[in-house]
Amino acid sequence: MPDANPNEQEDLKQRLAFAERLLAGIARANDSLLNVTDYRESIQGALRILGNATQVDRVYLFRCHEEPLTQQLLASQKWEWVAEGIEPEIENPELQNFPLADLFSRWPEELSQGRHIAGLVRDFPASERKLLEAQNILSLVVVPISVRNVFWGFMGFDDCHRGHIWSASETDALKTVANSFGGAFARQEAEIKLKDINDSLETRIKQRTKELEVSTALANSANRTKSDFLANMSHELRTPLNGILGYAQILQNSEDLKPQEIAHASMIEQCGQHLLTFINEILDLSKIESQKMNLYPSEVDFRNFMQAIVEMFSIQAHKKDITFRYNLSPLLPQGICVDKKRLMQVLFNLINNAIKFTDRGEVKIQVTGRPLALKQESEVSKQDYCLCFEVRDTGPGINPEDLNKIFMPFEQVGNLEKRSKGTGLGLAISHKIVKIMGGELKVNSTLGKGSCFSFSICCPEVEIDRQSLLELSEQKILAYQGETKKILVVDDRWENRAVIKNMLIPLGFKIIEADNGKQGLALAIEDKPDLIITDLVMPKMDGYEFVRLLKQHSATRPIKLFVSSASVFQSDQQKSLDAGGDCFIAKPIQLRELLTALKTALTLDWVYETRTLQNTHTSDIEDLDDSQFMLPSVEKLRDLQKLALSGLIKAFCQELDQLDQVSKNYRGFTQKYRTLAENFQLKTIQSSLELAISQSLPEATSTIRHSSPPSRNMDLSLLLP
Ligand code: ADP
Repeated sequence: MPDANPNEQEDLKQRLAFAERLLAGIARANDSLLNVTDYRESIQGALRILGNATQVDRVYLFRCHEEPLTQQLLASQKWEWVAEGIEPEIENPELQNFPLADLFSRWPEELSQGRHIAGLVRDFPASERKLLEAQNILSLVVVPISVRNVFWGFMGFDDCHRGHIWSASETDALKTVANSFGGAFARQEAEIKLKDINDSLETRIKQRTKELEVSTALANSANRTKSDFLANMSHELRTPLNGILGYAQILQNSEDLKPQEIAHASMIEQCGQHLLTFINEILDLSKIESQKMNLYPSEVDFRNFMQAIVEMFSIQAHKKDITFRYNLSPLLPQGICVDKKRLMQVLFNLINNAIKFTDRGEVKIQVTGRPLALKQESEVSKQDYCLCFEVRDTGPGINPEDLNKIFMPFEQVGNLEKRSKGTGLGLAISHKIVKIMGGELKVNSTLGKGSCFSFSICCPEVEIDRQSLLELSEQKILAYQGETKKILVVDDRWENRAVIKNMLIPLGFKIIEADNGKQGLALAIEDKPDLIITDLVMPKMDGYEFVRLLKQHSATRPIKLFVSSASVFQSDQQKSLDAGGDCFIAKPIQLRELLTALKTALTLDWVYETRTLQNTHTSDIEDLDDSQFMLPSVEKLRDLQKLALSGLIKAFCQELDQLDQVSKNYRGFTQKYRTLAENFQLKTIQSSLELAISQSLPEATSTIRHSSPPSRNMDLSLLLP
């Protein structure tokens, strides 16, 4: 092969050097397009790298698009790099949206088909030459750019000083870098789209949040309206109920009424209590729904508490001729700290349902428990207990499909006639209450066989002052010792004042009355009562203002103050205590609650009805020696208890006679109970026998069947809400 002449050799060397620079430039430009995060910088950087590598005078990118009407291809310069001393064209308006085919007729076809245009300008068609030569361009190469396989525009390299002729391999290399630009544009487009989506999402979220805020505000306001409505409605219903229940209680304590009239008064009270329960249920549900239900744990004599519930329901069971069984584990503590009202509510609902839905067989209540692991010795002296309650019945059972429904508000399933006796709210409320107490209400049921509702809760054990509990629950209060106490009752409704008057005057209190705060204040200053009981909502001057002024005035500040209202809001109750009230008494007023509060506030010593165990019978049993106080067997005690519960006084006394015949050592016992029976002290007999059973049993278990309706002495106070 003949040696190339020096010119050709030099030319070859230059071409090789150019190819090397071009390839290195393309690699760096690709790197810029791929790795520089700022989009503008990455494109501009790649153009600069390519311009420097190829030593051309101008590198540019044109974006092409079809004019919608004429479908002409319009081109606009979008990016440009120029070598030093070259005039930039990026600002040139003529290079924006100009019809490409007007001057470069072959370009649209060639470029959109993926082909390049390259060469010396002097060889180009005349129309093209005119414009290019005006810019002193000697040679150029233009390669197409596609974005996702769609023609996007082109990239051009102008040479104004050398007239470089682009080889096929060089233009191929340029086409690869053009693809990289296409990729960068595609990414940018995707990013813009993503940003658009994000922006629109953000706008939508903002819009939705705003809508949500509006609807939450509306819902809150509707909820407030509902709560206000319910509170007002309940206030309106409770106020007359105060009269009904108050007088029913007063009547039952009246000496002048015949037994039948007392029974009628008791019926009025029971109906009133049911109505009150219903109002409370609706309120509870709304409280739970608005998450306003709080627990108020207090010390509870648990065994007495359960006994009172059992006594109450054994009567219902008896009426339906079904067996009612009750089993309380001996491991359980006497006193626990629990929200008595709420626990009562749950048990009441479960047992009531069990009896309501069961027509034959039995209802069984079982309470078991175990102490929880002891806390640190220094922390507590008493232990926490886990109490498990179970209410089992042999009723109709519940369809498996309905098991989920029954805990929803207003859901009733099964027998239509039985449904009408309920509201469908009880289980929904019980379920939520047990949850708030930290447990879970569960149901196990077999259609045709029966159901078992159960739950467990944890409560701390507490010491119980049995004597003070017995004092109030068992004996009738007749009066109090010491000087007459003067009580000012401030209430705008005469019937409310009358209820308190009729409860307290027979016990020896002096009552003065006012029908608004203003009048109350004048009387408080003038008459100096020992205690004031005031309503909250009153004309002229309401309870809050009245309490505030009383506490301001030095003469009235020491007077004990009870606030009594039908308001169901805990906040009202707290507010009245914060304002200076000593105690809040809820309306309808419960006599026992009022008396308990009065005893504490005025440090009263009650005078009880004299027919008490010791007072009445000491003389009868005086001449008995110690050996004559033997207790009968537990079975016998239970038999006696059943008779007492059934009100079968004659049979009860016959049992006592039989005991006397068995052994004279029972005489102390029989005499005591005979006297009680002769005085119809059924309640005292029952509780005293219960105590005797629980003391003589290693395990306190009682089964109560077919008991009678309650006597007037029966203490239902534990069952009142
Ligand atoms: P209700 O006031 O209707 O008794 P609850 O919420 O207490 O409302 O009970 C909801 C429904 O659950 C009842 O209507 C009844 O269909 C079903 N149910 C509850 N307890 C029992 C049970 N012991 N035996 C059979 N069905 C029951």
